[in-house]
Amino acid sequence: MTEKLFWKDAYLKEFDAKVLEVRGKEVILDKTAFYARSGGQPGDTGEINGIKVVDTYYDANGNIVHLLEREPDFKINDIVHGKIDWERRHKIMRLHTAAHIISAVLVKAFGNIKFTGSQIYEDRARMDFNLEKLDDEVVRFIEEKSNEIVEKDLPVFSKIISKEELEKHPELKRLMDESKYEKFDVLRVVGIGDIDLQLDGGTHVKSTKEVGRIKVVKRENKGKNNRRITIVVE
Ligand SMILES: [Zn+2]
Repeated sequence: MTEKLFWKDAYLKEFDAKVLEVRGKEVILDKTAFYARSGGQPGDTGEINGIKVVDTYYDANGNIVHLLEREPDFKINDIVHGKIDWERRHKIMRLHTAAHIISAVLVKAFGNIKFTGSQIYEDRARMDFNLEKLDDEVVRFIEEKSNEIVEKDLPVFSKIISKEELEKHPELKRLMDESKYEKFDVLRVVGIGDIDLQLDGGTHVKSTKEVGRIKVVKRENKGKNNRRITIVVE
């Protein structure tokens, strides 16, 4: 399975790796800093040996596939140089950490809230959750509490946990639909100070101030008890 360099260092922008497989425009390396689409976070773009990477995703074996703009001229066993589109990825990291901050605020304020989905885009993120009432007042509350956490500049960290630990702490799972969790070979959690800890495979900024000001730009009712907010970071 591809070694996930983005788990060791979310700030790694360039790397060298060995080509393990080339299938048309698809390339598998022995290791990569390109985040593969999963858990609501989009796949990275960038370039490998100067050829554009337009998407990154997992194949059925858990290997990370880089989809190139064209078929490459490099071949198996070559050492290539990868470079991610850092500006895009950093914005995505800020939005992903922002979404975790908001989920921590919601859990603290409303207790047993469940998240029905979330998706991060290049410029915004949306979060779906079950809440009886979501009006302007609640939205203002979410913004205020979230930005307090941003201002506190709390550290953001990740660690690998065992299956037993996860069984002891079911609250680490925030998604209502458990089938939405990626089937990774190892379990990873992401924490924010002592206010949040949840199962997550994504890349995050190293402390909350880096997120910037969180703004809720839209709220929607998506049926009974199903609420959606769209956020941006400034
Ligand atoms: Zn997440």
